[in-house]
Amino acid sequence: MPAPVDHRSLYRLPWNLADNPIAWLEPTQACNLSCDGCYRKNVKEHKSLDEVQADLDVFARLRNFDGVSIAGGDPLTHSELPAIVRKVAAMGRKPIINTNGLALTRELLVELKRAGLMGLTFHVDSRQGRPGWRDKTEVQMNELRSIYADMVASVGGLACAFNSTVYDETLHEVPDLVAWAGRNLGKVHTMVFILFRAAALKQFDYFVGGKKVDVDALVYGQPQTRRLDLNAREVVDVIRERYPDFAPCAYLNGTKEPDSFKWLLSMRVASKNQTYGWVGPKFMEAAQAAYHLFTGRYVSYAAPSSLTMGRSVLAGAWPFDQGVRKAATSWARTALSHPLEAMREMHMQSILIIQPIDTLEDGSDNMCDGCPDMTVHDGKLVWSCRLEEPRAFGSFATAVPKRPEATATRTRLSVMDGNPTS
Ligand code: SF4
Repeated sequence: MPAPVDHRSLYRLPWNLADNPIAWLEPTQACNLSCDGCYRKNVKEHKSLDEVQADLDVFARLRNFDGVSIAGGDPLTHSELPAIVRKVAAMGRKPIINTNGLALTRELLVELKRAGLMGLTFHVDSRQGRPGWRDKTEVQMNELRSIYADMVASVGGLACAFNSTVYDETLHEVPDLVAWAGRNLGKVHTMVFILFRAAALKQFDYFVGGKKVDVDALVYGQPQTRRLDLNAREVVDVIRERYPDFAPCAYLNGTKEPDSFKWLLSMRVASKNQTYGWVGPKFMEAAQAAYHLFTGRYVSYAAPSSLTMGRSVLAGAWPFDQGVRKAATSWARTALSHPLEAMREMHMQSILIIQPIDTLEDGSDNMCDGCPDMTVHDGKLVWSCRLEEPRAFGSFATAVPKRPEATATRTRLSVMDGNPTS
């Protein structure tokens, strides 16, 4: 049984408010789906190109960033998306589209690639009410994931990631998604599991400026019967039931709890048939430091070509990284017993677990320290997962426990992260 993950043994990603690999741009609030875990009110409104440029200018003024997550709403509903992609690319930054994929065609994908698109993150899970995909399990949704992964691969040169919201009733399927990602190595570069969150209405009242506000009027304020406190360690435990060697290497902690894993990153070195191992903290530290040294920025979205260098990673990083050393040993064993198998192309693939906002028993918010998904509101950077609050109330709401006994149990409020189409 592997030891529980201890944050002190992992690499704390050096991302912060001012120097962060990601900027979160929302050119639209409109979406063509209505997913259970979505945190954005679906309004059929798009930003003009001038408004998008104004948001990009705010990012450029306030944040050193490497890639722009173009989200929403679903950005594919915005008729000027290619022009938006071109704007980001013209800044020398990596445009990544976060989409549910519903409106994607191969022709549009080719056009977006020509405009400078670096990659896509598809939000696909079983609670999106997709026409033709209702009542499917997460495993059955792999068929749809494969359709998108194949489409992206057929265009070539684009990064391909998948987000999936994890609910208490789908937690047990996470290892199947990790296995599916492994079988699609080379096509799928990142798999992201976002733990479901919503406001904890039973435990808290919410206030802005001393005045009670109706959080239940917000999209993430709907009454829930689901668990709101799923945590990243539980996901690790479930994955380890299938992959005992599964080993995260890096994290972002919470703003209140240093030992909470808000972003927990793992990266496997594998061929299509075999996972040789998981890189360790030193590898991730070296990768971030080297990228920053040469570009002046931290990295989150790696170019697909760099992820095919699994064997070079084994050769170059084994002296200083224990995880890589283990993977190299495993590969060497395979090379002795099955030389042809060992000659297969080797890839790197990331598995990321995101544990969005937790509201602690006293009502304080445990946010992601170094939040990568900050978006623009009124010329300032704000948490995209809680944007509905400043929009509705002018400021973020403060949670206050309803009754003294509510503080006896640890309780969490939450809102979604990732693609708002989730
Ligand atoms: S937007 Fe919210 S959930 Fe997403 S990274 Fe930032 S703080 Fe975490």
